[in-house]
Amino acid sequence: MVPLIDTHIHLDALELAGTGVALLPQAQQNGIGKFIVPGVRSSGWHGLLALTRQQPEIFAAPGLHPAYAEQWSAKVAQQLQEFSRQPKVVAIGEIGLDGAAGPPLEQQETALRGQLQLALEAGLPVLLHGRKATGRLLDILRELEIGQQLGGVWHGFSGSLPVAEQLVLLGFHIGVGPILLRKNARKLPQAVIELPAEALLLETDLPDMAETPETLVAVAQKVAELRGWSLAEVARITTENAYRLFKKMN
Ligand SMILES: [Zn+2]
Repeated sequence: MVPLIDTHIHLDALELAGTGVALLPQAQQNGIGKFIVPGVRSSGWHGLLALTRQQPEIFAAPGLHPAYAEQWSAKVAQQLQEFSRQPKVVAIGEIGLDGAAGPPLEQQETALRGQLQLALEAGLPVLLHGRKATGRLLDILRELEIGQQLGGVWHGFSGSLPVAEQLVLLGFHIGVGPILLRKNARKLPQAVIELPAEALLLETDLPDMAETPETLVAVAQKVAELRGWSLAEVARITTENAYRLFKKMN
């Protein structure tokens, strides 16, 4: 089986207190080959880059999470621009709008637009975080033609099939995570069944959504069951999708 790629895993999360890397050997034994670690706060970017230098299988997507949008400044923008040129920085993320956390949406939008501009300059895809502000986020992505120019992934997707289809039409991938494993999940399984195979990516969003990286294998198994694929096919398809999107990972 081709190794799986976890496209959204916070191995550097403060909750893990530096133990994230210790989770890797077991994850690799379970068939997970590469990990994309998104940024959250600007203070974490240096540590994130250090992690990619220590671990060949880890790649970075530095960015300001909408909950930390108040950190956005000219200095932070310059720092992000410098980081974007690093060889193991494969995307900008996680960026977006969160109507349930963080500063007012106007302030989040300023940080989002600034980071989208940097992503355009760097030619890097984006990891998107959208919660309770989907319409507004979609409008901005459409306006700046981010999907057509850069592509990206809507991480931790939990919306309806029509929203997923809009995202795919705009040029985005759908990040399928542990929400798929919930017994009462309805919308996400439907989207996983109906969407084009080329749109699907896998993620754990550890530690928020998963305790161990191996949860990715359970998500992949569920995708296999829903699509009528083998686990090996899920691995081949989603890993190809990841390499196509995150070109610097090749
Ligand atoms: Zn995240």
